[in-house]
Amino acid sequence: LTGYVGFANLPNQWHRKSVRKGFNFNVMVVGESGLGKSTLVNTLFNTALYPPKDPKQPSLEIIPKTVAIESTSADIEENGVRLRLTVVDTPGFGDFVNNDESWRPIVDSIESRFDSFLEAENKVNRTNIADTRIHACVYFIQPTGHSLKPLDIEVMKRLHTKVNLIPVIAKADTLTDEEVTAFKKRILADINYHNIQIFEGPRYELDDDETIAENQEIMSKVPFAVVGANTEVQIGNGRKVRGRRYPWGIIEVDNEDHCDFVKLRQMLIRTHMEELKEHTSNVLYENYRSDKLTSLGV
Ligand code: GDP
Ligand code: MG
Repeated sequence: LTGYVGFANLPNQWHRKSVRKGFNFNVMVVGESGLGKSTLVNTLFNTALYPPKDPKQPSLEIIPKTVAIESTSADIEENGVRLRLTVVDTPGFGDFVNNDESWRPIVDSIESRFDSFLEAENKVNRTNIADTRIHACVYFIQPTGHSLKPLDIEVMKRLHTKVNLIPVIAKADTLTDEEVTAFKKRILADINYHNIQIFEGPRYELDDDETIAENQEIMSKVPFAVVGANTEVQIGNGRKVRGRRYPWGIIEVDNEDHCDFVKLRQMLIRTHMEELKEHTSNVLYENYRSDKLTSLGV
């Protein structure tokens, strides 16, 4: 399970195009400092990037505090399909005295990527435009168990028209299963109340029942309760897993009964990648582009 991503099984037509050209997918992580963004990025790359035959041991890593927007890319190849996965890590916010504009650098980054694409599209030679647009934004929510904070609502409102928002409950290992279930309900109610548009999955007809069922199963986990860990812990019979150890037991990152990390990864890199890219291009980017042209009086 661990090394295998599954993007080579994307829908056919898209797949064929991608086999020829290769394709890229850009994910951004956003949220308050200390919620485990950098750790989750590492966890994602550790699983996505090491093929099964080369199970490189994830090493114990001290992740320095993120101070600037930085991106990490890796080329993954699977069944002859090439994917360039880029994850953009943003500095956490929320720990300033004044958080009024903490969303600004994030919005600026998303918009400047739209601008680059727009510029490239307007050139005479428009073949092979590098697509650096953000296709998915994973938004980290503090595991308070209560409700969204005013800052979360503010930031999500700034982002939701520009990017596919995917809310996650950070450090879900600090909540009980019951708390996670209740918190998920509360978050969705808040999101709904504040008219925040989160990514909702494909709206078109899906090909087969199995795909429909899998997609529904994945979307039913939103907001994903995630746990990040880059160290391995020993469980029974000498087996090692990535996880976090507690006096009462071990939370395994890659165990779907323990958290939703696997579901999040599947959604991003397999089941919903196509829809995330298309929605970015056809709706979010198109809206940005027409607003921009209107404001320029074109
Ligand atoms: P960032 O500021 O959002 O990038 O957060 P970091 O990834 O730097 O993590 C902050 C601290 O939280 C570190 O000590 C991590 O080891 C710890 N941490 C990260 N992910 C988790 C998690 O899922 N559960 C728990 N309990 N701790 C985590
Ligand atoms: Mg960080």
